[in-house]
Amino acid sequence: MKPELKLSPFAEVRLPEDVLARFAALFVRICLLIYLVPFAISVYLHTLVEPTLLAIPLVAIYGFTALLAWRQHLLGTRAQIGAMIFLLSIGAVAVTVRNESFLSASTTVLFASIAVLMLYGLRSTIAVSLLFLFALFVLHLSFEPPNLIYGIIQMGLAVGIQVGFLIAINALWNLFISSRHRLEQTLRLTEIASTQSRIGLFRHDLQSDTWMVNEVYRQMYGIKHDEQIHGRDHVLAAADPRDIPHIAETFKKGLAVGESFSFDHRLVGDLGARWVRVNLNILKEDEHKVAYGSVVDIHEQKLRQHELDQVHQQNAELLEHLTLATEEADIRIIEENLTQGTARFLARGKSPLPEALTYRGRLEIIQPNHRDALDHAYAEPGNVAEYPIIGKKYVTGTEWFKQRYVRKMEQDGDEIALFMVTSVTQEKKSQLQLQRSLHQVEKSLARQDEIAKAGEIGLFEWAVESDIVRSNAIFREQTGLDEERYPLLKVQQLTELFNDAEGQAFLHRMRNAAEADGAFEFQVELQMDANKSRWLRIIASAHEPEGAGKRIYASLIDLTEQLTLEQQLREANTRLEQQSRTDPLTKLANRREMDDYMNSQLNLRHRDPASSFSLVMADIDYFKTYNDHYGHLAGDKALQQVARILTDTARRPADLVSRFGGEEFLLILPDTDTAGAKLLCGQIREALALSAIEHAKSPLGELTLSLGITTLKPMELTSIQALIDAADNALYLAKENGRNRTEYKAVSELT
Ligand code: GH3
Ligand code: MG
Ligand code: MG
Repeated sequence: MKPELKLSPFAEVRLPEDVLARFAALFVRICLLIYLVPFAISVYLHTLVEPTLLAIPLVAIYGFTALLAWRQHLLGTRAQIGAMIFLLSIGAVAVTVRNESFLSASTTVLFASIAVLMLYGLRSTIAVSLLFLFALFVLHLSFEPPNLIYGIIQMGLAVGIQVGFLIAINALWNLFISSRHRLEQTLRLTEIASTQSRIGLFRHDLQSDTWMVNEVYRQMYGIKHDEQIHGRDHVLAAADPRDIPHIAETFKKGLAVGESFSFDHRLVGDLGARWVRVNLNILKEDEHKVAYGSVVDIHEQKLRQHELDQVHQQNAELLEHLTLATEEADIRIIEENLTQGTARFLARGKSPLPEALTYRGRLEIIQPNHRDALDHAYAEPGNVAEYPIIGKKYVTGTEWFKQRYVRKMEQDGDEIALFMVTSVTQEKKSQLQLQRSLHQVEKSLARQDEIAKAGEIGLFEWAVESDIVRSNAIFREQTGLDEERYPLLKVQQLTELFNDAEGQAFLHRMRNAAEADGAFEFQVELQMDANKSRWLRIIASAHEPEGAGKRIYASLIDLTEQLTLEQQLREANTRLEQQSRTDPLTKLANRREMDDYMNSQLNLRHRDPASSFSLVMADIDYFKTYNDHYGHLAGDKALQQVARILTDTARRPADLVSRFGGEEFLLILPDTDTAGAKLLCGQIREALALSAIEHAKSPLGELTLSLGITTLKPMELTSIQALIDAADNALYLAKENGRNRTEYKAVSELT
């Protein structure tokens, strides 16, 4: 444990062991020198001249102490000091007893107290030495008759000198220890700092070849803790073989005082070679040339440096590529200091342009009416402006610049802007040309449009390559592609418009049409919304003007109204047609329809007469009285009921029930023989009986039917009239025979 440092003269200072040891040794040696001669004389006097018993232990102890003092490391410091104190105490007692002098004895005590001071601090020492002085004083008084006043003066003097001396010595020690500690702290700090930051430190006296190095240095160069260093071989031994020639050369150089230099080399360690930097300062100390130096591990730094070099290399290559690329693309990149009004090229394009790098320079070459564009380009990063310049060396026409404000930077308080400038003269030219031709097209379209509007004709022009569709207002009206929703028409809208298979085929046809194909036509139904569709007739043709892409011109005529009218007419006709063939009351086929059907059926049978063909004529019984009794309206209703029963019964697809007239019905039954016709008539009468339509004035009580059948047997042919007459005859027979029955009459039976 280090002593607590207190600078007050009364501080309890205890010296550390090593300091104490050195003090003890020094002290003992001084004491020996001082006492050697008088003591030798004293021993001589005591032992030989005036022998006393006291001299023997004195000599022994003195000899022993002297021996220890010279070989101080054999015994602890305290033991030596203890022996010294004992020796001096006996000396003091001896002096007091022998010389009967108190003052001279107290001098000895003073010496002893110094040793105590070292061990126990000021207060204890003062106390002990005062006690001892008092004891000596009492001893002295016992020899000499008391002279109190003189004795007290003596005592006071001794105590005063003793205390003053001890305080002075203590103060000196404190001073010594504090400076020593400060030095130690500084040294320790240096050591810690160098160890922590892994800095090797050395001092090499070049004349005497003595080295002082710290622990880090030892670790770096692989030198053991207590190994002595000689020369510089240890540096070569630890260094990477690759660096040895360089180090040797450095060592060879004569070093002048005041010179400082450094060199790098690699140290070979367990983890491979690491770079270190050796810094040297040559100083002169006591006429000796001394090298002070440090060794710093710069491996990481070296690696970083290496990486940095590589990045630099890459950047340089990149920059070169960039320069080439920008030159190839004819792009200028300009760094302009807006604050200073200076600029420089970062990349220079290949075409010659006026080198107006700054805003001021540009103002001079820009066409005056485009200055706003330039101001816009300078307003904020991201802005782009195109402007024409006043051509002097350009005789071919106006040159156009495009300037883009790429980035803004701040540098030493200056505003730096990065601009990209390209020549867009070519683009401008073709843009203007395009505008002109567009204008022409516009004009011609407008003319066509006027004509088209008058005839309600929709027009569109489709530039097939660019897929841009231009149209007139009628087209937009016709197709519902209003300008608000589709400001720019593209082929996609056409695709959506003609979205069915046929439409797609038409689009395909248009896309692949050639001028030589001439015009082609197509009709399309466009579904405008859920319940409205529109029919359009499109006539298209391809044009391939020289130098421009293929264009399809198409005109559209709205057929909706026309087609709707046609449709309505057709429907009306159909209705009329139907009306002319149907009996309005019973909805049965009328006479005309019956005639046609009979004709067609008999014609069919003519071709294949192998089948039978029956005809049934039916007539309501006593219907006149029914009408009379129940009224005409009831009669109509009864007629409808009978008609329903007839159609419900004669249900074969080829059967036809017609109203022959009044309350008479004719049933045409192709492919039916007499038995089949009879069966059917029975079913009709049964169904009518089931309906049980009351007829109070009929002798039969209910509404009944009389039916007459005639059948054309296989292979039998006849006329329509003969057939009808036969059926009519059969009916007449049924009436004759009492009504509500079915009779048969063959054609051949007609008279
Ligand atoms: P018959 O048993 O001999 O057939 O006696 P009928 O009273 O039925 O005699 P006829 O066949 O001569 O009578 C036809 C009557 O049918 C005349 C008319 O009053 C009635 N009639 C004809 N057409 C219609 C019609 O469209 N509606 C109504 N309500 N009666 C009709
Ligand atoms: Mg009748
Ligand atoms: Mg009748």
